[in-house]
Amino acid sequence: MNYEISKYIHTFISSKGYPLIYCSRTNAFLKITKELYDFVLEIKKDSSLINELDDSLLDLFKNKKIIVKSNEDEDYLLERQFNEEQISYSQKTLSLTLVPTLSCNFDCPYCFEEGKRVGNMKNETIEQLILFIKKHESAKQLDITWYGGEPLLAFGVIQKVLSRINEEINIPVKWHTIVTNGYYFTNKVIDFFKLHPLNCIQITLDGDRERHDKIRKQKSNGEGSYDKIINNIDTILNELPDTQISIRVNIEKENLDDFICLQRELSQKWEGKKITLYPGILRIENEDKTALACEAIPQWDALKFYFESYKKKILNGNIYPVLQYNEGCCATMINAYIVGPKGEIYKCWNDVSDDSKIVGYIHDKKLTNSSLFFRYLIGSKFYNNEDCKQCFFLPICPGYCPWFRLKNQHENGKYILCQCIQKAPNMLNDCLEYWYETNANS
Ligand code: SF4
Ligand code: SF4
Ligand code: SF4
Repeated sequence: MNYEISKYIHTFISSKGYPLIYCSRTNAFLKITKELYDFVLEIKKDSSLINELDDSLLDLFKNKKIIVKSNEDEDYLLERQFNEEQISYSQKTLSLTLVPTLSCNFDCPYCFEEGKRVGNMKNETIEQLILFIKKHESAKQLDITWYGGEPLLAFGVIQKVLSRINEEINIPVKWHTIVTNGYYFTNKVIDFFKLHPLNCIQITLDGDRERHDKIRKQKSNGEGSYDKIINNIDTILNELPDTQISIRVNIEKENLDDFICLQRELSQKWEGKKITLYPGILRIENEDKTALACEAIPQWDALKFYFESYKKKILNGNIYPVLQYNEGCCATMINAYIVGPKGEIYKCWNDVSDDSKIVGYIHDKKLTNSSLFFRYLIGSKFYNNEDCKQCFFLPICPGYCPWFRLKNQHENGKYILCQCIQKAPNMLNDCLEYWYETNANS
């Protein structure tokens, strides 16, 4: 049998001078002698030298997939493709992101929903939505996310849809969440959600009070919204204690510190409550939408920001790589739909309100834009991307956003897609060494 060094191997000398070997396929990590390190470099060039390794070392290297059978790395890609397809094509869950209105009481300058239209989902569309759900007979679970515009501006639609689902649909709602600006979380809304519990509420802040109020102001009178939203969160935490609140704090180059300050301030204020804060890196595009504008944080810097935040325990996350599959998003799941107020279907949250990105309608049997549907569903898979197929980081990579991928492929985009922290320059060595210094030696 022919053996070789796997392409998923990384060898390096730490900043303190000791040699390390890491395998991304098994996430295994070994400190080795300088003599063995040099020998591994030799084997990379001439695999026949593998025969000179002693049996116990050979077994260890085979076990950790540092040394593999020839073709084994190729076969790994097939297995990975199979597993990701299983996730993508599963029909067990029907996942619906429902947009009851595109209207919003705010007018954030970066809002992607350009040309937002006014108007709520009509009764006729609600009717079609119920039929659409009923047609998904193989679904065993229903996930519902309310999205907008500001979904609570169409609270009546939310009430009607949930009552109809309760009365007529046999599939249990297992995941129920809302993405809202938090302004209209009134007592009436809270009472309703006591009867239709939410697993999670996602609310966005645009930084500290001053910055937030400059950006998220009422369209009608220009008034800021920070205090009202914070008060509403207080009430939600008291009245809906089982619901997880997730606060996204938007950051760009200018206000990186806002997240750190808000995290300190608000986690103290709400200590012990079911609430988390996380940074939402704003992806502000340049005018011709081919790259990020200067106020945006470049992708590698964003990944370094996460690394530093994990190190300082400002954010919960892993410094050491994690073996993972690309779980995908609604764009890559066959049974996931974003349904707009007219019953139009999108595959990506960023496409909502852009008519050219509608892939079909809930009342139609056929897709109206099957090219876009399949570009998202299949075209954006790693096995259709040569860079990913050749990539050392694939086993530890959470994947990329298909929306940006399609921009690169079809609209001359120049975005860096990789979301794997360790892929940022020098970051793999930094992550591994930091982990080794703080864990392996303790
Ligand atoms: S709150 Fe959301 S939907 Fe409303 S303008 Fe701001 S980003 Fe757009
Ligand atoms: S394609 Fe990207 S932006 Fe669209 S839903 Fe998926 S992850 Fe989100
Ligand atoms: S997205 Fe980037 S890091 Fe991930 S597998 Fe593809 S090329 Fe590698």
